[in-house]
Amino acid sequence: MNESQMADSTKPLIGAHQSIAGGIHKAFERAKQVGCTALQVFTKNSNQWNAKPLTDEDIASYKMAASKSTIIAPVVAHDSYLINLCAKDTALLQRSRRAFVDELKRCEALGIPYLNFHPGAHTGQGEEEGITRIIESLNWAHEETKGFKVKSVLETTAGQGSAIGYRFEHLQQIIDGVDEPERMAVCIDTCHIFAAGYDISTEKGYDETMKEFDAIIGLERLAAIHTNDSKKPLGSRVDRHEHIGKGAIGELGFRMLMQDERLANIPKILETPKGEDLKEDKMNLSVLRKLAEGE
Ligand code: MN
Ligand code: MN
Ligand code: ZN
Repeated sequence: MNESQMADSTKPLIGAHQSIAGGIHKAFERAKQVGCTALQVFTKNSNQWNAKPLTDEDIASYKMAASKSTIIAPVVAHDSYLINLCAKDTALLQRSRRAFVDELKRCEALGIPYLNFHPGAHTGQGEEEGITRIIESLNWAHEETKGFKVKSVLETTAGQGSAIGYRFEHLQQIIDGVDEPERMAVCIDTCHIFAAGYDISTEKGYDETMKEFDAIIGLERLAAIHTNDSKKPLGSRVDRHEHIGKGAIGELGFRMLMQDERLANIPKILETPKGEDLKEDKMNLSVLRKLAEGE
């Protein structure tokens, strides 16, 4: 940790997903521009299967940028949207598994400790079958990457379509099933759990949701929080992100989250709509900062 990072250590761990256009290291410039202390990136184009392997130069410039950056929280990588670890089609399943292993390797090379991914969509096989397949996929991926430090981080989902992961029980069932549970962690997406039916917009609902998460999964398993408000109502099972305080969760939900001492060390990362100039990131981060300070 460098001097400016040490000086920042009392700040809340808040940030946003940033573009890697121009190279992964460029994400740190964007993060600094809007005042992030936490960061999420893709390590490749998220809409393509293949990526050029990382060169030694890519890795060196990433590490150099990271060491000089404003980021004090562990960096989170998000995997490609094409990957489905319970795909019904055998070819797609194999392709997904290989791509997931490639993502783990990219993270490990860059020193990124968390690879966030969506459990998968069962596309008609049924949830139990889907969960079994996800466990097999993770076991294979972990076997292919023996001894890696990067953790596989299951993200909670809204349960849109046939997505698995809209109940905390799904995630725990996967963790219980894998051979190396110590390689697993979890990410709460506030928009997703709200759309899935966990009412974090009220004090009572927030308390019950956190209690349930702790009882079923355990707060010690929580690696990151995606802080997104929701355009769609509670239990809608539709995943549409909204600016903080302007959606169906509202400011109260995010105030409780930002002031929850159990979550003080968990990076809170925005995935909210934004334009090229990133002014929406600045706006949402300032709202989160104010809520953290109790305003
Ligand atoms: Mn996601
Ligand atoms: Mn998310
Ligand atoms: Zn989402």
